[in-house]
Amino acid sequence: MTRSRHAYVTLVTNADYGRGASALVRSLRLTGTSADIIVMHTGGVPAEALAPLVVLGALVQPVDLLPTSAAFNERHARARLHEAVPFTKGEKPLFHTPLDNFAKLRLWQMTGYDRIVFIDADAIVLKNIDRLFEYPEFSAAPNVYESLADFHRLNSGVFVASPSEATFSAMLERLDRPGAFWRRTDQTFLEGFFPDWQGLPVFFNMLQYVWFNLPQLWDWKRISVLHYQYEKPWEKNHPKAERLGPLIALWHAFETGEGIPDIAALPNPASGD
Ligand code: UDP
Ligand code: MN
Repeated sequence: MTRSRHAYVTLVTNADYGRGASALVRSLRLTGTSADIIVMHTGGVPAEALAPLVVLGALVQPVDLLPTSAAFNERHARARLHEAVPFTKGEKPLFHTPLDNFAKLRLWQMTGYDRIVFIDADAIVLKNIDRLFEYPEFSAAPNVYESLADFHRLNSGVFVASPSEATFSAMLERLDRPGAFWRRTDQTFLEGFFPDWQGLPVFFNMLQYVWFNLPQLWDWKRISVLHYQYEKPWEKNHPKAERLGPLIALWHAFETGEGIPDIAALPNPASGD
């Protein structure tokens, strides 16, 4: 069997994100893609959380966290990072460990693939997006969920990359220089590493807060990837749960595989004008 030269890759470092990945993997399968679907996982994920992913057709790939220094790890520890640069716009769940985010960079070591589309485990794919494999490294959508001011920043929940050991080594060298602090972890790092990043339309990484902050941007017919940044749809009664009700219900449909609606027919949010 010849292996696909293209892969979708996500990362899970604990059972909670494993749950996220199950909805993601199912959603990807439903797009009819023939690319491989790979779940990178670290030691912290119990076998029971990985088994359903395999059933859904994912390849599970053990990876180590990056060999960053003790000083780097301390600077990026959850409590330290949240204190240094507080999250004022939304809340991160307790099961979110900022340091784990950097393990995404391991995908550059998957040199058996020409092109990889990385997708966060807290996202679902609503349309076939295989054409992203023809996009250059480094392509990503803007980090838009509140205002126009964020259009110049990228969100690292969805991106296109070309695996290369040389790139991976260069990244490690750059990442852990003395005193280096990446305030929004891999996202800040990648933005600096690829200053000429290629912009994707927002529909390739529609952030859930757009639903209530920028409803005029919402269009179910065009959204390819829906990304539940900040609070996760499987967290019980989180602070935004009421406002995000329809999005949370959609995520649960993809998690269980039951009652997945015709996405294009879903009602858009009232745009308030
Ligand atoms: N992640 C993980 N364990 C963690 C933190 C992050 O597996 O403790 C992975 C997971 O794929 C997650 C991604 O890294 O989707 C980025 O974190 P998250 O999605 O929580 O950040 P946000 O999108 O809210 O900024
Ligand atoms: Mn995310």
